[in-house]
Amino acid sequence: MTAHTPLRGIDALVAQGLVVPGRREALEAVAERYAVSVTPAIAALIDPSDAADPIARQFIPDTAELLTLPQEMADPIGDEAHSPVEGVVHRYPDRALLKLVHACPVYCRFCFRREMVGPGGASLAGEKLDAVLAYLASRPEIWEVIMTGGDPFILSARRVRDVAKRLAAIPHIKVTRWHTRVPVVDPERVTADYARALRVPGKASYIAIHANHPREFTPAARAAIARLADAGHVLLSQSVLLRGVNADIETLAALMRAFVENRVKPYYLHHPDLAPGTSHFRLSLAEGQALVKSLRGHLSGLCQPTYILDIPGGAGKIPIGPSFLSGCEMPGAEAQAEDRFGTQHSYPPA
Ligand code: SF4
Repeated sequence: MTAHTPLRGIDALVAQGLVVPGRREALEAVAERYAVSVTPAIAALIDPSDAADPIARQFIPDTAELLTLPQEMADPIGDEAHSPVEGVVHRYPDRALLKLVHACPVYCRFCFRREMVGPGGASLAGEKLDAVLAYLASRPEIWEVIMTGGDPFILSARRVRDVAKRLAAIPHIKVTRWHTRVPVVDPERVTADYARALRVPGKASYIAIHANHPREFTPAARAAIARLADAGHVLLSQSVLLRGVNADIETLAALMRAFVENRVKPYYLHHPDLAPGTSHFRLSLAEGQALVKSLRGHLSGLCQPTYILDIPGGAGKIPIGPSFLSGCEMPGAEAQAEDRFGTQHSYPPA
């Protein structure tokens, strides 16, 4: 066992004092259904004496996960319906997702791919990776490739460098993007060498970093993020709006400021998907819109994410507001523009 070995399974969480022994049996039933893993960096952040700890809520299993509502789905964003080749999701013409691996260093309790991710299972390699790259090369409309999973940062530097080099050889791909939670959940993995290995020669390189609470920005996480920025990647944020974690204006504001202070531009704030056993995390769309509206009134434009809904079933992502403009639908009509204090102002028709 090394300093990086995650705690896998309920016994390991009990041994670490993160689960009281009396809950072992009930949580074993959850662990049989959904993967469990907590990295040492995350375990160190959890306050076991706080029953409402927002870090624990994201990573420690809960019996509420055993409740699956009728509207919840195994594949809530419809990846399978848009997968022409194993490992590729090609939903929009100009971009494709490349699922390099199904495992993650942590398993988030709200994960939208929780039925697909977990330990074991091979990463995309050999003939399967050849087939994926052949597909990408055969589709000149693909301008951007997004590496996801699971978490692609669990792959070795040698593996990511190999993928990067092979993508570099496809002329019509101009932009690469890696999606990861590793910089906050296992920051020591992101060495300067690793940050360089992710660069795809000749392409613009973006990294979307997933974090949901300002406490995730530990000194080690900040240093890992700095190594990525210093290696020349453009950094974007990804967060999920989660009840009991960040669904209040103070936490959300602190989270967005933490991103910006660390050179990460807030990008997507996801409304939670209809993943099975996650209803205890979901808030209503109206509650989410009110929070995002409040963010607009409180914070610099740099700190504003786009609030996103992935339409269940695979129809894609849409921005879901809130809107500050009304009344302009009719030709010649005056619009009403709402300022950050809620006051309405008229704006003339063109
Ligand atoms: S890191 Fe991402 S893919 Fe992995 S469990 Fe968390 S949300 Fe799911």
